[in-house]
Amino acid sequence: MAVNFQGLLVVTFWVVSVNLLCSARAQEFGVSVPENVAVGETIFSLPGTRAGEKAELPCAKIEGDPYGRFNVTKNCTIVVANPLDWSVQSTYLLTIRSGVHNTRVKVELSDVEGYPPVYNETCETPVNPNGQTGDLLYSINFALEVGKYGFLCHKTCICKNGARCHGFNGACKCPPGWKGVSCDIPKQDVSITTTPSDPRDIYISANITLHCEVHHVDVGYLTVTVPNKSNKVSFGINKTVFHVPNIQPTNNGPYTCQVRDTRGNTLNTTFVLNVTNCAPDTKGARCDEVCGCLQGASCDRWAGCVCPPGWTGTRCQRKCPHGTYGKDCARKCTCQNWATCDPNDGRCECQAGWYGMDCSKPCKDGRFGWRCQQFCACKNSAVCSNVHGSCACVTPWTGPDCDQLQTSRDEPLLESLVPLGSLVLLVAIVMAILYKTGILACSTPDTAEEDKILFELRRMEQDLAQSLQPGWLGRWEKKIKHLTPGPLIGEGMFGLVRKGKLRTPEGELAVAAKTVRVEDSQSYRDFYREAAILVAVHQQRDGDCRESNIVRLVGLITKSAEKYILLEYAPKGDLLGFLRRSGNINEKDLFGNLLGYAVHIARALQELERLRIAHRDVAARNVLITADDVAKLADFGLARDVYAANQYIRANRPGVDELLPLKWMALESIETGEYTCQSDVWSFGVLLWEIATLGKDPCYDGRMQLSFLQMVGILRQGIRLERPPGCPEDLYRLMRSCWRDVPDTRPTPEGIEERLLQLRHALLPHDVIEMETVV
Ligand code: AMP
Repeated sequence: MAVNFQGLLVVTFWVVSVNLLCSARAQEFGVSVPENVAVGETIFSLPGTRAGEKAELPCAKIEGDPYGRFNVTKNCTIVVANPLDWSVQSTYLLTIRSGVHNTRVKVELSDVEGYPPVYNETCETPVNPNGQTGDLLYSINFALEVGKYGFLCHKTCICKNGARCHGFNGACKCPPGWKGVSCDIPKQDVSITTTPSDPRDIYISANITLHCEVHHVDVGYLTVTVPNKSNKVSFGINKTVFHVPNIQPTNNGPYTCQVRDTRGNTLNTTFVLNVTNCAPDTKGARCDEVCGCLQGASCDRWAGCVCPPGWTGTRCQRKCPHGTYGKDCARKCTCQNWATCDPNDGRCECQAGWYGMDCSKPCKDGRFGWRCQQFCACKNSAVCSNVHGSCACVTPWTGPDCDQLQTSRDEPLLESLVPLGSLVLLVAIVMAILYKTGILACSTPDTAEEDKILFELRRMEQDLAQSLQPGWLGRWEKKIKHLTPGPLIGEGMFGLVRKGKLRTPEGELAVAAKTVRVEDSQSYRDFYREAAILVAVHQQRDGDCRESNIVRLVGLITKSAEKYILLEYAPKGDLLGFLRRSGNINEKDLFGNLLGYAVHIARALQELERLRIAHRDVAARNVLITADDVAKLADFGLARDVYAANQYIRANRPGVDELLPLKWMALESIETGEYTCQSDVWSFGVLLWEIATLGKDPCYDGRMQLSFLQMVGILRQGIRLERPPGCPEDLYRLMRSCWRDVPDTRPTPEGIEERLLQLRHALLPHDVIEMETVV
């Protein structure tokens, strides 16, 4: 082919196809280029006015390009001069004069998916009120000021004619009268703008001016029609204004601007005025009452001050009454034993001597005082007050610690010593038996070790540390000699999991025994975090006979050199493996079994929410399936699967060095390291996506591997995981709701469970639902 491309670059970056349409009669060529071809690229070189000849120089473009998209160089090369846009114009018929010959080149653009970038108004660049330096927000705003965009502010905006440039993807928001990727192509248009432009400044009794403007049209006449149908006509001008002073509800309605051009064509646009709000801080039918709200509350025309949670009163001047909290003080505090209740979120601050979420539990195991942090000194079976540690002695003991014998009357003393002697003997015998059988060792708390671990945990999770009962560690301790470790069943970066057998008084029990893989402080911290969470979950469920959807803790082994967390053994393994092995599953099974597992995990999240614990790694790889087909949430921080190595990305936030499951993480967790029950809901959305794809690796924007910054950029642009093929719209909508930017707007685990059950009902045949015993 006689086409002379200028340089390899053209060929490397996009595909150019040139075909000689009519080489015998010559002078007609066709070239096809993608619409996103870069400005400055050569797309075509004229071979000659007749086939085989060299073009006659110099060349010049004479028609077919009214808006200057292309340049033709003297030696007959066509170069892109301005950004192209398939949706604005997809074909150009250029006429090029070379010497005395005219040559026609047909340039056909092809549509490129994802181009041009979309200006997403919901994700508009935020305004930084403080102008603080050093953070992402600032760098984006700073970049905007100097016409840059992108995360590193290294890309130059191309927007023209006053168009706004999007801080994240550089898309241009064209002002009226302009179109094209860079808003540089004139567009016949009529527009209405308002002063003031911010809708919040337009309220009852304010003044507003409507500016009607015509762009790139030969105006014959211009008509402005107002809601009462009267109109104002102007001839030969392309701008007019209309004032509405002291806006009243009667002024609401459509305002239309219509232009008729000199050839008789008409264009129009309408602005609807709908003002219902009063001026800031005023309310009432006539907007003549002052709100005077406190605590930053907003003022509603009809409701008056809309107080933030924890406040009430016409001006939000009062804290919630005793025993209530939350929005409108509508929720009842559950705090007991004189605990104070946070009026904002209902958290209980326990008085000395009490602990637990609602402060209903008295300190146990020889502890007393604030958060049960002090140790009782009472001796000789005395009862210790959980509040102040005072001792109620048992006869014949006396003294502040009940360690002195009563000496005033010898006779009663002797009388009481005789039965006491037999009691001591009895206790000694029982203890010897318990010690021999190993039961005593299991229940002796190692308080120093326990305190050290609690201290570590408190630094991580205050609520978790607070909800653990004294003696929690010792109570779950099992003996290493009773464990027979078996084959390895799971392996990860921080831990190993073996199948094992545990000898118990009831017989042998199959267990999964988790241990640390690397003996460093981080691994031990993860080990104890997982142990503590499992203990907290189990102690919280005390007396609740419903099955938990968190993997069952069988015991802990912490006193030997090798430490173990012993869990119920789940023979069907983890959900990710289960999904990947499912192969071609039909829709009925998908919604019968797999959505059932999702319901179970939504319940696990409810359990964690009650404990105010964030799991931080909700994903199919961390869900186990029991022999009874119940899905249970597992892995609270120890073993992470080896096959998931590419699912954890090393964080590069300053001061953070950990492997993170980026593609499962909520936006706020990636940006600020904040984990909450709502961030677990985000991850749950990804788990639903894993279920709907039968265990595919999440892939954002067509990319499998993403860096920290790329991930934030993608999520901030509003990009989310795509709807899996065959996934019902309602299920995908539920996933999307889990991935909302604002954590509080995501559904609650309870709401998710309800929605999933409805989905299953709608999708599954009724006989299947009726046959089920476990949902
Ligand atoms: P985890 O650290 O809990 O994610 O465990 C790593 C892997 O070990 C899991 O993906 C499972 O394959 C396996 N595993 C962990 N706990 C159990 C269990 N209780 N029963 C059966 N397999 C387990």
